[in-house]
Amino acid sequence: MSKKQTAPKKPKLVSSTPRPAREEAEAAIRTLLAWVGENPEREGLRDTPRRVIKAFDEYCAGYNMNAGDILAKTFSETGGYDGAVLVKHIEFESRCEHHLAPFLGKAHISYIPSGKIVGLSKIARLVDIYARRLQTQERLTSEITNALQKHLKPKGIAVMLEAEHFCMKVRGVHKDHAVTVTTRFTGEYQKDDDLREEFFAQVRG
Ligand SMILES: [Zn+2]
Repeated sequence: MSKKQTAPKKPKLVSSTPRPAREEAEAAIRTLLAWVGENPEREGLRDTPRRVIKAFDEYCAGYNMNAGDILAKTFSETGGYDGAVLVKHIEFESRCEHHLAPFLGKAHISYIPSGKIVGLSKIARLVDIYARRLQTQERLTSEITNALQKHLKPKGIAVMLEAEHFCMKVRGVHKDHAVTVTTRFTGEYQKDDDLREEFFAQVRG
C-alpha cells in the first residue's frame, strides 16, 4: 500500500564548492571584530584576522588528511598475539560545529587484530585527523571507529571519548565540570559483555 518514499538527499559533510580566498576569510574576521564593537584598525587588532585564520588552519588541518594514508602500512608479524590492543589517554582538541568552541579530551581506543596490526602512533594520529575538523563528539567517535573498521577489519573495536566542551563552560548552561562520554563498540566488543568490562577496567585502571 505504501509507496516507497525517496529520502531527501543529505548534504555532504565536506563542501565541493571552491574555498574562498584567504583574504576573504580574513575580511570576515574583520567584520566580526567590527560587529562586536571594536575598531579592527587599531594596533592590537590589525593583525588579528591574519592570526585567527592561521589558527583555523591548525584547528581544521584534518580536512587535508586522509585516514587511508595513515593506516595504509600494517604489520602481519604479530607473533601469534591475539589479544586486544588498547591505546588510552590519547589527548585531542576539536571544535564543536555548533559554536566553533573548543572541546578537549581523551580518546581510549582498543582493537582486536585479525592478523594485522598498525603502528601505535598511527592510532593517535587517526584521532587527530577527525578531531581537527568541525565536529560533534558523537560523530568523532563514529568516524574513528569506521576508519579502523574500514582499513584494519579487526575482530572488534572499542572507542571511548571523554571531553569537556567549552560551549557548555563559557556560554549557555555554564557548567564548568561537565564531562561528556561517548562509546562505540563493534564486533566482539559488541557481543561480549566481559570484553567490554575489561575495556572499561583497563581504561579506568
Ligand atoms: Zn557547541
